[in-house]
Amino acid sequence: MNQTMADRGSLIIISAPSGAGKSSLIAAMIEARGRDKVQVSISHTTRAPRPGEVNGEHYHFVSQKDFMQLIDDHAFFEWAGVFGNFYGTSRHAVEAQQAKGVDVMFDIDWQGAQQIRKHEPDAISVFILPPSRAELEQRLRKRGTDSEDVIAGRMAKAVAEMSHVHEYDYVIVNDDFDQALEELTAIVVSSRLRRAGQSLRHKAMLNELLAEGA
Ligand code: GDP
Ligand code: ADP
Ligand code: 5GP
Repeated sequence: MNQTMADRGSLIIISAPSGAGKSSLIAAMIEARGRDKVQVSISHTTRAPRPGEVNGEHYHFVSQKDFMQLIDDHAFFEWAGVFGNFYGTSRHAVEAQQAKGVDVMFDIDWQGAQQIRKHEPDAISVFILPPSRAELEQRLRKRGTDSEDVIAGRMAKAVAEMSHVHEYDYVIVNDDFDQALEELTAIVVSSRLRRAGQSLRHKAMLNELLAEGA
């Protein structure tokens, strides 16, 4: 196995009901750990940009027609319909990030998580829970990006999303933000310490340590 394989980054799936804080946690984690170590996969979506959202930074905003073309081209690692829009992860972008040895985080729903797990059994999945329903609703309002109708729709979908919590490897309760960030960091850091990756990364050192008759 070559050096590139040895340094392949981990795939870390993050799901949560809308408003639980996953985007904020992912952004803070990248800021703290550094872009050279961890990046987020930028999804394609057919939903309209929210105020302040930048094409190519938060999402690749595409038309429904272009999205369908990308499906036909097998350009997606996974894709799903969420809240009446389509969302998908570009296969090419993920492979390029992973090959650079960067850990890749996916802010995706439970349907996308199921698809990635099926193809990539080593992917790690984390579910972020809000401390209560009332707090979840308050955060959606506080964010100030969605209309009352959209907030009501997202609250209704929150329970359905949370019903998939049992499919995930790790669960974080995002009550105190700093604590949740510390917990997410612990998961990302420990994923890099798994034996398979470490054995490859430290092959020469292990050979030296384990050499007979030293
Ligand atoms: P948020 O819930 O407030 O972060 O709202 P977004 O519009 O950013 O995301 C809507 C839903 O789509 C969430 O459940 C995301 O996890 C999910 N999502 C975002 N990107 C992707 C993707 O590339 N693939 C899949 N399967 N789901 C995604
Ligand atoms: P998501 O990406 O899961 O939809 P966001 O990251 O957009 O959620 O967070 C929703 C809102 O809640 C934002 O205004 C964010 O600043 C706020 N928020 C996130 N985590 C916490 C927390 N632990 N305590 C209080 N507010 C939070
Ligand atoms: P929002 O419209 O609020 O940005 O996102 C709504 C939901 O779509 C979030 O729960 C988010 O995790 C999910 N989502 C965003 N991108 C993708 C994606 O590429 N694939 C899947 N499956 N879900 C996504």
